Amino acid sequence: MPPSGVQTPVELPAIKVSPPGPEARRVLALDRRYVSPSYTRDYPLVARRGRGMLVEDVDGNTFLDFAAGIAVVATGHCHPEVVAAIQKQAAELIHMSGTDFYYPGLAELAEKLASISPGKEEKRVYFGNSGAEAIEAAIKLARYHTKRDKLVAFHGAFHGRTMGALSLTASRSVQRKGFGTLLAGVFHAPFPDTYRGSYGVRPEHASADCLSYLENELFRRRVDPEEVAAIFIEPIQGEGGYLPAPVEFLQGLERICRKYGILLVADEVQCGMGRTGKWWAVEHAGVEPDILCTAKGIASGMPLGAVVARASVMDWTPGAHASTFGGNPVCIAAALATISLLERHFIANAACRGEFILGRTADWRQRHKIVGDVRGRGLMIGIEIVRDQTTKERAPDLRNRVVQLAFRKGLLILGSGDTTLRLCPPLIVDEEQADFALLTLDACLTEVESGID
Ligand code: PLP
Repeated sequence: MPPSGVQTPVELPAIKVSPPGPEARRVLALDRRYVSPSYTRDYPLVARRGRGMLVEDVDGNTFLDFAAGIAVVATGHCHPEVVAAIQKQAAELIHMSGTDFYYPGLAELAEKLASISPGKEEKRVYFGNSGAEAIEAAIKLARYHTKRDKLVAFHGAFHGRTMGALSLTASRSVQRKGFGTLLAGVFHAPFPDTYRGSYGVRPEHASADCLSYLENELFRRRVDPEEVAAIFIEPIQGEGGYLPAPVEFLQGLERICRKYGILLVADEVQCGMGRTGKWWAVEHAGVEPDILCTAKGIASGMPLGAVVARASVMDWTPGAHASTFGGNPVCIAAALATISLLERHFIANAACRGEFILGRTADWRQRHKIVGDVRGRGLMIGIEIVRDQTTKERAPDLRNRVVQLAFRKGLLILGSGDTTLRLCPPLIVDEEQADFALLTLDACLTEVESGID
């Protein structure tokens, strides 16, 4: 049964002009001429409007959005309650800077985030403008509080692109190439990939092997744990291929952190804010991070990032860290409206629709020879595409073909990692829309498979 209160009207996409249409082509030419070439666009969607689960392009095509602006528009596009909150706030006060002055929303959102974050201890909240800024703040806070300077992150991790966050990122070398020496004292350890394993890590023993690597290899040979300020982990790797860390791994990591006085930082920028069917992905493991970073889904598309830490950890003094725009009043109003909607309807919807999608795709490995694995929690689902199910050979070209074909059929999805399709729709998705997306994807997989014999 879908949870009550989900009022999304039944809406499905329609392609009228093969994209990119004439107006889209005009924008693409302008963009090519003036916009930074560092952006990675998989297909030529030129968006004009978004409503609920649908995005309309500049030529009047409508698409079903299973990408959500990279897992951002949690309440769908332009949810009326979010729009009303933004409009009201924009007419009253657009900027003040929480760094220098006070306003009610900043304290109210901090109170709310503190109350929904795991752990009984009192919390403090720092506001920035993005996921990377949240990670930067967490790096600085961890060093400041522990008076240690070493950091540990995981292979495949994506924590952002600013220099500190990039130092923790180990997702694709192109993201680091050309930028010189990054932050010193960062160590990477294998992530427990239960599908593939990784160098020296067996898939069926991924958690034990990865925990053992930390204590018996990294801490014995490369860095003394008493010099490590923090371990950063995405409880479900986002850009790394939609890989959930097993419950026993997260629990083991928490134990190791407590043993050596290391702070556990959960990067919930992509997997948080209700996407997995609970407020935070760490809750599925009953783990209490010392610092939690959030952004993306927090304000339904308005730029906001936040760091929630135990009050005894966020002990820095005035002037230690701040941001002119961080915690902007309009973004905060959007966040308060988003949280209220998530709480009332959409976290439950994410859990229920996630189960529906995982149920419907449970036999895709049998039905599609290029599907190696289907995994995830709530509305954070990855489908790994392989050339051969036995050898698990990666097939980025086939994955990319599926993404392109889906776009031509009116479904927006994104890749993740080298060879995974990611499904991260807004948390409002209804059963008919989920069904449409799965039928479309199913057809795309069949079409791609038929071309490889
Ligand atoms: N952390 C995670 C887990 C992410 O997925 C991302 C972005 O994809 C970031 C950090 C960086 O966020 P932003 O792009 O808002 O700086």
